[in-house]
Amino acid sequence: MVTVACGRGAPRVVDVRQADPAPATTPEAPGPSVPGTIVDAGTGRIDTGTGSSDTTSADTTPTEDASADGASEDAPTGEASTGAAGVSRSTSAGDPRMPDLGSDDLDVEHYDVDLRFEPDLTGVEGTVTSSVTLRKRTDRLAFDADGLDVIDAVVDGAPADFRVDGRELLIDLAAPSEAGASLTVEVTYRAAVADSAWSWDAAGLFAGADGVWSVNEPDGLSTWMPVSDHPTDKATWTFDVTVSDGLTAVANGRYVGTTAGDGVATWHWDQDEPMATYLVTMLVGDYALVDGGTSATGVELAHAVLSDSQDALDGYREVTDRQLSYFTELFGPYPFDRYGLALADSLPGLAMETQGLSLFSVADLDGSLGPLQHLLLAHELAHQWFGNAVSPESWNDIWLNEGFATYAQWMWLEEAGIGTVDGYAGAALGAMGDCLPLSRPCELFGPLVYEGGGAAAHALRLTVGDDAFFAGLRAWIETYLDSAASTADLRAVMEQASGQDLSQFFAEWVDSTTPPTGFPAPSGS
Ligand SMILES: [Zn+2]
Repeated sequence: MVTVACGRGAPRVVDVRQADPAPATTPEAPGPSVPGTIVDAGTGRIDTGTGSSDTTSADTTPTEDASADGASEDAPTGEASTGAAGVSRSTSAGDPRMPDLGSDDLDVEHYDVDLRFEPDLTGVEGTVTSSVTLRKRTDRLAFDADGLDVIDAVVDGAPADFRVDGRELLIDLAAPSEAGASLTVEVTYRAAVADSAWSWDAAGLFAGADGVWSVNEPDGLSTWMPVSDHPTDKATWTFDVTVSDGLTAVANGRYVGTTAGDGVATWHWDQDEPMATYLVTMLVGDYALVDGGTSATGVELAHAVLSDSQDALDGYREVTDRQLSYFTELFGPYPFDRYGLALADSLPGLAMETQGLSLFSVADLDGSLGPLQHLLLAHELAHQWFGNAVSPESWNDIWLNEGFATYAQWMWLEEAGIGTVDGYAGAALGAMGDCLPLSRPCELFGPLVYEGGGAAAHALRLTVGDDAFFAGLRAWIETYLDSAASTADLRAVMEQASGQDLSQFFAEWVDSTTPPTGFPAPSGS
């Protein structure tokens, strides 16, 4: 994800939560300035398990019970316990940053999503059928379902008792099931579409003038779908989305077809590559599905564009193809079957790397191709490798997404003749002050994670040399494709690629609360 401030003059890094954003810290790059600069993306909330949505402490520990009202006698969220039947119970993946999310009891293999939007698009009724494998013996399943009106739950064809406890949906099994068991869980529910077009401290499903769009990072999907809402639990997906005649519904993956109904149509999409929950997209409106052919690197290109903005897409076909070639050379093969641009009625300045179909605002991608468009297109495409193919094991690892997408964005800007990597990295050092350490940033989507993460990537490149750096990045994608990995995993991959002990590098650049004083001298390689 990236958000940009399109101000006058020199680029600025802005924390949008400051009333009077201070001009500050970065990319005052040599050469032409970039008028789009990264700002805090705003959803850096940390769920403390108390329902608060704007806490910024990085030291949250999984000690709070989501059922803070005391209604539950079961295990605190984020912790395992042993139930009366001697079975393990846990309602979270144990993420130290966002301790409510996910589930340690189950692994979702596939989601079959059936959504039916109300004609006025103010709400949606859904049935989500999850194919799960149990990780341990349990008599209860937990899904994230933040504010959903759950109507019904069915397990393996039989009605099941359920209750909503805080942001958790807890479904009782008729009898304990063993680790390794496969279950089919069908949940029917209603959810609202937010009637405002994005708020800086929320993620989820939003209504714009031209329909519905979504940004779900980090935990927005569970506000409109019951899921195991953590990037360590990837799954394949099918989407069947019913909307009024005249509207188009767009989701991730391959467009399969449309089934006509009585005044409605159901749009079918198949995402058969593993995908994290926060990378789900949903667009409803007057969209055209545009066949973009095949890239020079052999990637199928399939776009979704508001019908009255189709001309704008023509401004980005060539640059997207060139970026695909450029990043493929650096990072290895594009990790999915297809890529596309979604040009939507979303918030100007906001872009999101929804898997295989990055989301942009038509206000930003208006057909022109300047530094802002280069930046946005490069950043979200790079995320397909950094974040989507390999997702963060914990939300504390978010710099592995944003730092490397920012670094790739700098490389592309240099390639396009807009500044230099050295210039961007040098300016970004100023972001490595407050909010450290990078491995536990005080803000999930603050300047440290983007600019500081990019600077750390640059320092790593200087430390190990170009050959080892890019070999390491390619090994990173190959090793952890379709899964999640941690900062420690990156260190191991880079040590393997370089033959160096990188403990000092990670101590200084990633785990330290003291800002680095300058970049290391380039490796002799
Ligand atoms: Zn990003």
